Amino acid sequence: SETNGKVQEGFEIPEINIKFTQLFIDGHFVDALSGKTFETRDPRTGEVVARVAEGDKADVDLAVKAARKAFDHGPWPRMSGYQRGRIMMKFADLIDQHTEDLAILDTINAGKLFKMGKLIDIPGASQLLRYYAGAADKIHGETLKLSRELQGYTLKEPIGVVGHIIPWNYPTTMFFFKVSPALAAGCTMVVKPAEQSPLSALYYAYLAKEAGIPDGVLNVVTGFGPTAGSAVASHMDIDKVSFTGSTEVGRLVMEAAAKSNLKSVSLELGGKSPLIIFDDADVDMAVNLAQFAIFTNKGEICVAGSRVYVQEGIYDQFVRKAAEAAKNWTVGDPFNPNIHQGPQVDKAQFEKVLKYIEIGKQEGATLLTGGKACGDKGYYVEPTIFTDVKDDMRIVQEEIFGPVMSLMKFKTIEEAIEKANNTKYGLAAGIVTKDLNTMNRVSRSIRAGVIWVNCYFAFDIDCPFGGFKMSGFGKDMGLDALDKYLHSKSVVTPIYNSPW
Ligand code: NAD
Repeated sequence: SETNGKVQEGFEIPEINIKFTQLFIDGHFVDALSGKTFETRDPRTGEVVARVAEGDKADVDLAVKAARKAFDHGPWPRMSGYQRGRIMMKFADLIDQHTEDLAILDTINAGKLFKMGKLIDIPGASQLLRYYAGAADKIHGETLKLSRELQGYTLKEPIGVVGHIIPWNYPTTMFFFKVSPALAAGCTMVVKPAEQSPLSALYYAYLAKEAGIPDGVLNVVTGFGPTAGSAVASHMDIDKVSFTGSTEVGRLVMEAAAKSNLKSVSLELGGKSPLIIFDDADVDMAVNLAQFAIFTNKGEICVAGSRVYVQEGIYDQFVRKAAEAAKNWTVGDPFNPNIHQGPQVDKAQFEKVLKYIEIGKQEGATLLTGGKACGDKGYYVEPTIFTDVKDDMRIVQEEIFGPVMSLMKFKTIEEAIEKANNTKYGLAAGIVTKDLNTMNRVSRSIRAGVIWVNCYFAFDIDCPFGGFKMSGFGKDMGLDALDKYLHSKSVVTPIYNSPW
């Protein structure tokens, strides 16, 4: 219980070897046309670990040209789904052979726990590839028995050239949420990773080529949002943009799509997800779940359970136990296998979280635990809990994207539903209760894309995931995600030789 807020020492740091820092266009690593590069920093220390090519509009143009050529004339959309699936399986196998190297990159770029990278993120990438590889030869249209003297069928065709714009909080998972179904569908693509975490995406581009994905199918342009990202969103030759990131930038992406070629858009955006704990809950289990729901990945999770509503009968007990539990949630170097929480991704995010903690205090919330930066270098923040929080406070309404829990009390089920829905977001929600009626009623009343009952972050590849309201639209994972990258074309023909 003495470890909260202390950066621990005494563990081994693997050798860090950064192999790829250039753009990946048409099957080759190349410098940006401008020759520019940008710094990428390790959030454990704030020090520069590499300089990465800074792509902008001109590089995006080249990447789109390559993707267009690969789509219009290349083998990828034309080969059988089975063949595409075989190559994707090979890609997955290669990822499994490089797990350690890849996990290192996400740790030094995004401050993610090395242990979790090796256990979850990187194996999850190969699992995503294999799931969609298995679906690549099962893409079916429908046979239509039309009225009149006609018959028809629908063809599911790849949507074309896709632009994927992704965030930094799960550099690997976000990459494969997007790339795997798009590859299976037969699309070609340009990926714009977040400027904070470009390294693993470039490594994946290398492995894709090794696996036999043809040149031009998967291009990666590293660079900044307002330049490279916006060039993707407004490109006239991209057929679809699949975006994950903030609601604010999602709006810009949709605007750019509308103002350019009306490309299809899907948006996975921010959240402010409620976790509702009823009186009949096991308090220890609920405290653990609440802590897991907000402090995992230092709160940098779009579905983080940042608003915790506890029913009045167990509220005082819950507060006491939550304060105790937070002390055991250890913060430190993400290479240390014994800690729970690494640094925030960068200085800007670190300062944003601390600013929101100040706002919470100024608004009159009570700091139950945490509330400060910790460690003598890097971007570490203590796991923080506020009580006496009111519904209209900024810490309850705005996405902090850090390890900050707001704890609130409620009396009735109606009140819990109303409070949970009192947000512009609708990404996820959690419920803790043993009562079947409460579970059913609340699940059906909350406007959010995923409801976790007596669990949290219970993701499964076969379970579609995506938001309601200002958390966006369009699903990642499941076969729904494959559908995002397919067009449905109707083919109609007369049954008889009728006079058309
Ligand atoms: P962000 O919106 O700042 O950036 C996301 C991506 O968009 C980055 O690659 C960035 O370079 C790019 N970008 C920035 N400005 C752009 C512009 N004008 N045009 C085109 N692209 C632009 O988000 P972030 O800070 O990287 O990520 C955190 C946000 O992502 C949080 O709001 C979080 O909730 C959200 N997120 C959502 C999900 C989900 O599935 N719903 C998953 C992870 C993260």
